[in-house]
Amino acid sequence: MHSRIHNFGAGPAVLPLPVLEEAQRDLLALPGVGMSVLEISHRSGPFKKVLDEVTANLKQLLEAGDEWEVLFLPGGATLQFAMVPLNLLPAGGSANYIVTGSWSAKAVKEAEKLGFTAHRAWDGKAEGYVRVPAAGEVHLDPSGGYLHYTSNETIHGVEIGSAPASDGQLLVCDASSDFLSRPIDLGAHALIYAGAQKNAGPAGVTIVLVRKELLPRSPANLPSMLSYQVMAAEPSVHNTPPVFPIYVVMLVSRWLLGEIGGLDAMAERNREKAALLYAAIDASDGFYRPHARPDSRSLMNVTWRLPSEELEGRFLAAAKAQGLDGLKGHRSVGGIRASIYNALPRESVEALASFMAEFRAKEA
Ligand code: PMP
Repeated sequence: MHSRIHNFGAGPAVLPLPVLEEAQRDLLALPGVGMSVLEISHRSGPFKKVLDEVTANLKQLLEAGDEWEVLFLPGGATLQFAMVPLNLLPAGGSANYIVTGSWSAKAVKEAEKLGFTAHRAWDGKAEGYVRVPAAGEVHLDPSGGYLHYTSNETIHGVEIGSAPASDGQLLVCDASSDFLSRPIDLGAHALIYAGAQKNAGPAGVTIVLVRKELLPRSPANLPSMLSYQVMAAEPSVHNTPPVFPIYVVMLVSRWLLGEIGGLDAMAERNREKAALLYAAIDASDGFYRPHARPDSRSLMNVTWRLPSEELEGRFLAAAKAQGLDGLKGHRSVGGIRASIYNALPRESVEALASFMAEFRAKEA
């Protein structure tokens, strides 16, 4: 048995231990198949079973009906920044974007690069991305084809808790860093996408849920790999998909349905874990300085600063020496970021909260 540290990395991130153990156990041969999942055709019966199960499990977890297509696509969430406008808008069309941090800003840039107009319906940049908008602050361009938002900004640690009003426009969500961490109001959405490598599995696959009625919008001249319609025609096997990441997402979805008991139970665990860390910050008499405003705090990525960069450096080094790793904030924001995704055990968060109290007692 290898010893595992407390992994607070932002992604690729910690995976559930039972999932890793099962993947390891069955790596040489899938039960009853006699070959590894790494070695079988993506069009074989056993892999079709994997795709069918992961699709059914995700639909069950998210309570998605037959109107939803579930796709497993390459290219990361970054490719979705382009695929969303390319498939949902006419050439040169416009859409609304809520900009709550670096990732939504990147989605805007990618749409603009392709000749679309991205109307910033709300932009938190001038305030340093410390909060998400209140309902009345989002101003939509009525001619927009959709409203895009990022439910959790992984770098800044601000999270939009419930679907924003889209005034009848299609609602599109980049849920990369809080996908499967809590139930989602699917009814409000037209399309949701998430790179797998935070809560859902390893890097290399992006999960897209799209309403089937939108598929005919994909322009016929799009490259096949960029077309939702083509990718849905033979779901996720138009070409060779990332079979191993998809298999691990299947194991994670089983773990969520089985051991965890669904997304309500997962959300409860996540709220408890986040509360432990925010309590440690709030009890620190200003030694730990949270980035996000209290009403916008992320349950997945907790971000804060210390009184000086020098102290931050010592905090990170001392934490690492105690087996608390991955805590360095993103280079664009600095400070500390604790990513506390689904698979991170509560004990890891408790260990970090105690370390924070000890470090403050010594250094404040
Ligand atoms: N959106 C969000 C919210 C993210 O956190 C990330 C990755 N950290 C991305 C998009 C980009 O994802 P990828 O690296 O899979 O393209």
